[in-house]
Amino acid sequence: SSKRHPIGRFAPSPTGELHLGSLTTALASFCQIKSLGGSWLLRIEDTDSERCDEQFSEQILIDLEALGLYWDGDVIYQSERIDIYNDYLSSALFPLTYGCQCSRKSLAQYWAQQGAQQDSQPSNQTAPDKSVLNKTASNTTAPNKNNHTAEHQRYPRCCLDAHLNKEQHKLRLQLPDYTTGFIDGIQGLQWQNPQQTLGDMVVRRQDGMINYILAASIDDGLQHVSHVMRGLDILPLTTAQISIMQAAKLPSIDYWYHLPLICHADGQKLSKQNLAQPIDTRKSSALIATALRLLQQPAVDMDTPTRMLEQAIAQWDNAPLQGKQTLNSFNI
Ligand code: GLU
Repeated sequence: SSKRHPIGRFAPSPTGELHLGSLTTALASFCQIKSLGGSWLLRIEDTDSERCDEQFSEQILIDLEALGLYWDGDVIYQSERIDIYNDYLSSALFPLTYGCQCSRKSLAQYWAQQGAQQDSQPSNQTAPDKSVLNKTASNTTAPNKNNHTAEHQRYPRCCLDAHLNKEQHKLRLQLPDYTTGFIDGIQGLQWQNPQQTLGDMVVRRQDGMINYILAASIDDGLQHVSHVMRGLDILPLTTAQISIMQAAKLPSIDYWYHLPLICHADGQKLSKQNLAQPIDTRKSSALIATALRLLQQPAVDMDTPTRMLEQAIAQWDNAPLQGKQTLNSFNI
């Protein structure tokens, strides 16, 4: 696999316009893969029709072009690929799936009861282990509705043996309950147990909506992505993604990189939720300079975006990012 052509990607969810945080992710993955002579793909992760908007998808493409961040090949839209994800759910992944009829309300009741029992028997250690999440991004991440990380407790598998009709109910995927490690090129060696991090996640809602991590796993495999560089907020999902890709018999990712999150001085992640400003691509060159400074890359001469990116690619270095969980936007 060392002979593979390096393939990276940027996979935004069009729930808003690009902001400094998402621009930084795009720029870093672009420069890194180009520094290896690889291709950079663009995939619009728009399976969540309630939160995504075509206008944002269009604007993201326009902004990337204005910044000289030209993608290779055709843009992929996940909303057009629902049949592909469903095919995997009814073939390679089928044995791992099960129908589930637990409502949010019934689960909340279940957990409330568990919590009450826990309180009365403090020595009984059966609580879901959320320490994996705590160790990663959660202390630097503002609460968000992305479901990148399980804010809820893991699913207690009430419906695992109920043999409910898989078409008529929401569908869960059994994730392995053991810890595996992977090397993150920025964050170092990581250990995660997908069952403890996520539990058996809902991969298809009753209304048919496909979970984005399932779609991302399948597409990374089908697109032969070798290098994933993305935000630290998705780090806790990585061994789940690895296990989904293995179960689906898809080619694996060779290199993982989880970028530090851009933070305000008060420690809040820049995001749509806390109203990060959309970027203004009339200032493309200044934006590139800012993003490169945030990423602690050597300075480049102010020029057209394309020439600045050429320099940035030639000088690209992951080393200054090693081990960092946040980059403070007030350092710029
Ligand atoms: N679509 C995800 C997001 O915008 C990124 C997924 C990925 O890079 O794997 O947060």
